[in-house]
Formats: sequence, structure tokens, C-alpha cells
Amino acid sequence: MSEGTIFKALSGFYYVNCGGDIFECRARGKFRNDKVTPLVGDRVCFDITEPGKGVVTKLQERKNSFIRPPIANIDYLVIIASAVIPVTDPYLIDRLTATAKSSDCECIICLNKCDMDRADNLYDIYSRSGFLTVRTSAKTREGISELGELIAGRQCAFTGNSGVGKSSILNALMPGLDVATGDVSNKLGRGRHTTRHVELFELPNGAVIADTPGFSAFDTEKMELVFKQRLQYYFTEFEPYLDTCMFANCSHTKEKGCSIIQAVEEGRIQKSRHNSYMRMYEQAKQFNEWEYKNK
Ligand code: GDP
Ligand code: ZN
Repeated sequence: MSEGTIFKALSGFYYVNCGGDIFECRARGKFRNDKVTPLVGDRVCFDITEPGKGVVTKLQERKNSFIRPPIANIDYLVIIASAVIPVTDPYLIDRLTATAKSSDCECIICLNKCDMDRADNLYDIYSRSGFLTVRTSAKTREGISELGELIAGRQCAFTGNSGVGKSSILNALMPGLDVATGDVSNKLGRGRHTTRHVELFELPNGAVIADTPGFSAFDTEKMELVFKQRLQYYFTEFEPYLDTCMFANCSHTKEKGCSIIQAVEEGRIQKSRHNSYMRMYEQAKQFNEWEYKNK
């Protein structure tokens, strides 16, 4: 029996990397019966059936998994943002950080196009909220090796709104990968983001990066299905204050004696993060009411 990581899944085959050797594997029928689908990023056990081929026999326990893109065991979600066209709305970033946190996945906030705008506002918000925050320019290569070092030895996925420079950064990190960049129509014309599959690429420093179609849509829908009581735990910097509100079931939106609101007023929690929390809380509330109505 051998062990490896699925780095590509295509037409019923799972391509497993085992210490640099590649095996084209089928999955045992029992996965289908168990309703478990092996995902890119899964650590698996497999039996070699003939040179370069095998059968996946077991999935190791996952740290996390995502539906969009279909991927498992992500250590870092690298959220690419920019303060020039397209300007990234902090609310998008905050939905992504909450999604990641709910799946036990860390985030790196990568402020790209810093050759055009240093994104000081976003830098302040996220570095002060405890996130690993890095400025990059895919154009001048500023911050690219720093980003590479942050993800060394980890499995990551990149996300961010279209046009912020995800493909450009992947290319800067991995010369030779040659991901199509440019405007959307150009990409569609080249077939990218339509028919392409998820695939993991490894950097020389051991960083494993998922190159995924449609990764701008990273599972944020999940946040619409979160119970409002859970949401507070998805804002990591709220944690030290949660036990000290005056009311045990404080929603941290308007209550008297709320220590989160006090921390916002004193600048210890960023206002923009709390605003996103309140917006998401409103959404979560509606989800609950809808649920009850339909019971
Ligand atoms: P994606 O949609 O997030 O994959 O974005 P792309 O990588 O395709 O980049 C969108 C556009 O922004 C392209 O025209 C890139 O050349 C440009 N771009 C990407 N990164 C940078 C950067 O750091 N600085 C500047 N000035 N332009 C960039
Ligand atoms: Zn409170």
C-alpha cells in the first residue's frame, strides 16, 4: 500500500502524487456506496496495480473540504484584493474570511497592484485584525517572494474578484505555468474558467497551490446558511471579547454593554469588520426565520 495526494481529478481518474511519482488511479466502488467522492487535495492510500497505475483504497481524514471549488485540505485561502480597478469591497473579503474560518482554514490577505495603489486602507483593516497581510505587485514582483515564503509547505487556494490579478500572481509565483491573464472575454476565448479542472501545482519550496476554475466564487454562499449565533465565531478578532458582554446571548449589533461594540468604539476592532459582521448577521437572521416558517 502507498500513500499520496490527489493533485488532479479528471473523467473518473484520480492522479496521485506519491513523493514525486505520479499514479493514475481509479477509486474503489466502496467510495460511491459511502457517498464520499475523493477530492483534489485528499491524502489517500492506494494499491499499485501496474506501473504508474493504481486503485485508491482509503481517504485519510480531511482537515476541511469545499464544494466550490471542489477541493480538500486547504491550509491557506489566499484572498487577493486590490484598491485600483477593480476595487475590492471589504465585505467580499470578510465573507471569504468567515467562510474560511468556518472550515478551519487560515487566510492570507494579498493586496495586489501595489505598484498602482498601496491599498493603505485595506492594509490597516486586515493587519490590525490579525490577518497575515502582504502587498504584492505581479508587475514589479514586489512582495511575490514574501507571499511564496508565507505559503511554503502549505496547501492553498487563491480567490478574489475578477481582475485583481490572481492569474498574474500565480504566473509570478510559478514561471512556466502560463495561466492566461487579461480580461474575461480573453480568458473565456481560451477556454479558461469554463472547462478547466482543478489542479494542484507545487512550488520548489513545497507550497501547493490549487489552480481552480471559477475560484472567485469560493463557497461564500455557505455564509447565507449560517445560524446567526455561529457568526460571531467566524470573526477571529472578536474572540477575546465574546464572554464579557453584559447579556449572554448578545448579538453584538446594538445591545447595551456589548464589549464588541465597545472595542469597535475604542478602535480595537476595525469598524469595517464589524459593519460586515452586522450585514452578515442580518442575512443570517433571515435564514433562520425562513427556516422556522417552513417547519
Ligand atoms: P484575475 O482575473 O484575477 O486572474 O486577474 P489577471 O491576472 O487576469 O489580471 C487582470 C489585469 O490586471 C491584467 O491586465 C493584468 O496584467 C493586470 N495586473 C495584474 N496584476 C497586476 C499588478 O500587480 N500591477 C498592475 N499594474 N497590473 C496588474
Ligand atoms: Zn456583544
